[in-house]
Amino acid sequence: MTDYPDLYLMIAGERVPAGPRDTHTVRNPATGEAIGELPLATAADLDRALEAAARGFARWRRSTPHERAAVLNGAARLMRERSEQIARIAVLEQGKTQAEARIEVAMNVGLFEFYAGEVFRLYGRALVRPEGFRSTVTHEPVGPVAAFAPWNFPIGNPGRKLGAPIAAGCSVIMKAAEETPASALAVLQCLYDAGLPGEVAQAVFGVPDIVSRHLLASPVIRKLSFTGSTVVGRHLARLAAEDFKRTTMELGGHGPVLVFADCDLERVLDTVVTHKYRNAGQVCVSPTRFIVEAPIFDAFRAGFTERAAALRVGPGLDPQSQVGPLANARRVEAIDALIARALADGAHLLTGGERLGNRGNFYLPTVLADTPLTSPIMNEEPFGPVALLNAYDDEAAMIAEANRLPYGLAAYAWTQDAARQKRLASAIETGMLGINTTMIGGADSPFGGVKWSGHGHEDGPEGVQACLVTKAVHEG
Ligand code: NAD
Repeated sequence: MTDYPDLYLMIAGERVPAGPRDTHTVRNPATGEAIGELPLATAADLDRALEAAARGFARWRRSTPHERAAVLNGAARLMRERSEQIARIAVLEQGKTQAEARIEVAMNVGLFEFYAGEVFRLYGRALVRPEGFRSTVTHEPVGPVAAFAPWNFPIGNPGRKLGAPIAAGCSVIMKAAEETPASALAVLQCLYDAGLPGEVAQAVFGVPDIVSRHLLASPVIRKLSFTGSTVVGRHLARLAAEDFKRTTMELGGHGPVLVFADCDLERVLDTVVTHKYRNAGQVCVSPTRFIVEAPIFDAFRAGFTERAAALRVGPGLDPQSQVGPLANARRVEAIDALIARALADGAHLLTGGERLGNRGNFYLPTVLADTPLTSPIMNEEPFGPVALLNAYDDEAAMIAEANRLPYGLAAYAWTQDAARQKRLASAIETGMLGINTTMIGGADSPFGGVKWSGHGHEDGPEGVQACLVTKAVHEG
């Protein structure tokens, strides 16, 4: 038996248990074992959530910065106190290692604290006008937000989806992933326990397509915030467009990593291999296409493969594990199919390429070299523990490869040449670029992409601004 908590919907501050509702079975990805039954919202549940969100917005939009900051700071303090408990829940339902889950809690704490400060900086401006006239520009909360959070960061994604609307004075109905509901509920509970009124933030779960259609069809909802795949994002953006709802879309990527011959190779390898297999590669900013300058390709390939093969794959609750299982069985199937197709297309398998054991969703860290650009894995986000290593002759070819795909979320480059660093900063089409680092985010830094990776930002001042609308008032 595990110590996994009971599951419920959270509507208007009340826990709604399954009762007669259909349920979804939550499984531990390390064992395949059923650990919880999650109630799925009915249409009536969603209507109650919408009514509550409308009331919650009417109330919270008038809250003072001090009230919002007290809730966000209080929730941050509670999350820090409950860190071990919340991290354990995330490991049980998502699979990642405990160390990674603790980092996720800490990052969420940092974000809530940053937003708690940001609520005092939601400035407007006064325009220069003749005497007797006055014109002001102010920013107001956009309204109730429908927010959809995926399963890969079961703590951090809900934290982002809840924190920004609450800081901006909005209400929010969050549908976190059905695979990882308890982490999302634990984050929400910290906000409630810090004094957030129940109607301001709610959690529903259900059949995703039914929930999103229902919420986005309602005029109560004024903004959609979605993190997930480009395909689903495009579908939801179309639904939101019917009613001109604002959108923040954090979609897929296919992270290019440009490695030039003048880099510090050992440092690059020590950094990027760990970063690649973090969360078993199920990260939208994961480095995926390693675009390596030809003179160092052999050394890069050897060093990368050696490090990847040495990673310890195992259950997240085992402190020795460095890579946990994939979060769900369909990811194992998807990765397996992409790799099989790449090998059939002519890629070389350097390590991994198969499941580990027959219990749970474990997959070996995998390295492929010389994969043809036409193979699906070079074009679709693999979202798993696979690194793709290819050699290129010069900077121009490397930049062209980085920009070849319609995605533009995170990119990385390793070079000690200062002039080249500047050229890359300007040439690479991406929302976030790490030059000689994999640290591309932070509570104070905008997180988001361009092209098919979506639009709008989370985190940073931009994260709160994305939940505001602008009003100009002219008085004569
Ligand atoms: P998916 O595309 O079915 O779902 C992605 C997420 O969207 C899930 O959380 C799911 O619950 C939600 N979703 C799906 N259909 C929805 C709908 N109609 N309305 C509202 N929400 C809906 O894929 P998946 O198997 O869960 O994940 C695989 C792919 O999703 C990955 O290949 C990756 O591209 C993408 N993904 C991206 C992120 C990210 O951080 N950007 C996170 C998780 C998944």
